[in-house]
Amino acid sequence: MSGVDSELNRAEYSDLRQRAARLAEEIEPYAAQADASSVVHEGIRRALAASELTRVTVPAAYGGRAPSVDPYAICLVREVLMGTSCAADSLFAMQGIGSFALAAGGSEEDRTRWLPRVAALESLAALALTEPEAGSDLKAITTRLTVHGEDLTLDGHKSFISNAGAADFYTTLAREGDGYSLVVVPADTPGVRIEPLPELSAPHVIGDVYFHEVTLPASARIGAPGHGFPLVLATLATFRVSVAAAAVGLADAALREAVRHARTRHQFGRPLAELGPVAGLLADSWIDVESSRLLTYDTAARARHDPLAELDRSSMAKVAASEAAGRVVDRCVQIMGRWGLVRGSKIERLQRQARPLRIYEGATEVLRLGIAKRLCREVP
Ligand SMILES: Cc1cc2nc3c(=O)[nH]c(=O)nc-3n(C[C@H](O)[C@H](O)[C@H](O)COP(=O)(O)OP(=O)(O)OC[C@H]3O[C@@H](n4cnc5c(N)ncnc54)[C@H](O)[C@@H]3O)c2cc1C
Repeated sequence: MSGVDSELNRAEYSDLRQRAARLAEEIEPYAAQADASSVVHEGIRRALAASELTRVTVPAAYGGRAPSVDPYAICLVREVLMGTSCAADSLFAMQGIGSFALAAGGSEEDRTRWLPRVAALESLAALALTEPEAGSDLKAITTRLTVHGEDLTLDGHKSFISNAGAADFYTTLAREGDGYSLVVVPADTPGVRIEPLPELSAPHVIGDVYFHEVTLPASARIGAPGHGFPLVLATLATFRVSVAAAAVGLADAALREAVRHARTRHQFGRPLAELGPVAGLLADSWIDVESSRLLTYDTAARARHDPLAELDRSSMAKVAASEAAGRVVDRCVQIMGRWGLVRGSKIERLQRQARPLRIYEGATEVLRLGIAKRLCREVP
C-alpha cells in the first residue's frame, strides 16, 4: 500500500527495509507476547541484535551504519517494526533516543565506552527528561547537578522513563546553576534506584528512576555546563519524525486487518467492503495512511541534511501521523464489529498502542503551539 517509492526504493535504503521486514517476519510469532510484557523480551532482543539494525542508531565512528544518524533510515525501520511489535519498535528506537546526545557531545571516554555497545545492542540506552511535576514543561525539572571538587553530584526523580530497569545508562537532564545540563549515568552507579510503574494500557518497558547523592566524574557531563537543552533539541529533531513513521506503520497494519475482514465477511448478501459506508471508512483510512506517509518521509528526507531546521516540520508530521493513526484504528475496530473488541487480537492491541503516540515526545496540543508560531513567522 506504499506510495512514496521514489525515495524508498533507493538502493541504500531498500536493503535496510528488507532487513527490517525479515526481522518483523521472524518476531511475528511472539510479537503479541512481547507487547503484553513490561520487561524486555529476550527473543526480540536476540533477533534485533542479530539483525544489526541498531547500528542505524549510532554514528559510523562508533560502530554505526552511516557517518551521522539518519532520520530517514530510522523511519524506515520504525515503520516496519511498529506494524508487528511495539516492543521491538521501542527497543530499536530507544537505542538512538537514549544515546544521540552522547554521540553529539559526550566525552570521548563515554562515547567509546557506550556507543559501540549500543550499536550492537549489548547495552541498552535511556533518556531521562520527564519528572513527576515536569512533563510538557521540561524547564520545570528539579533534578539537580552540583559540582563537588573534581566530581559531580546528581539528585532527583525521573518519571515514566522508557527502558528504566533494563537500561545500562541514563542520559539525564538536570538543573545546573541557572542552566540545564545533560549527564550520562551508568545504571549501576551507587544511589541510582528504579521503581516500576503500574502497567500501562499498552504495556511498555518503563519506570521511575531515582538519583540519591549519585557521584559522577566531570567527564559524565555531555556538552558544556548549562548547555543540555540544545542537545535535547538535537535528539528530538532527529527522532520526532520517527514517531510519525511508527504511527504510519501502526495505522497501515490496522488497515490491513480491517481490509482482510471486510473482504471476507458478508452481511446483507455482500462483503462488508462493498457496503457503501464501510467502503468509505476503508478509503478514508487509506487516505490517512498515505498522506501521513508522504509527509513523514518528505520530512525525514529534509531532516537528513539539517534536522534542527526541520524540527517544526517533524512536529507537523508527528501530529498528523499520530492523530491519523488514532482515527484509522478506531475506524478499523468499527469495521471489524465485535471482532474488533476481542482482547489480545491484533486490532485491539494496535488500538491500545496508538494512544500513547499522541502524548509522548511532545503532546499534540503542545506541538501545535510551535507549528503555529513557525507558520506566523514564515508568512510574509
Ligand atoms: C509510553 C511512554 C514512554 C515514555 N518514555 C519517556 C522517556 O523515555 N523519557 C522521558 O523523559 N519521558 C518519557 N515519557 C514521558 C512523556 O515524555 C510525557 O508523558 C510527555 O512529555 C507529556 O508530559 P505529561 O504526560 O506530564 O503531560 P502534561 O505535560 O501534564 O500534559 C497533559 C496534557 O495537557 C496538554 N498540555 C500540556 N501543556 C500544554 C500547553 N502548553 N499547551 C496546550 N496544551 C498543553 C496536552 O494535551 C497534554 O497531553 C513517556 C511517556 C509514555 C506514555
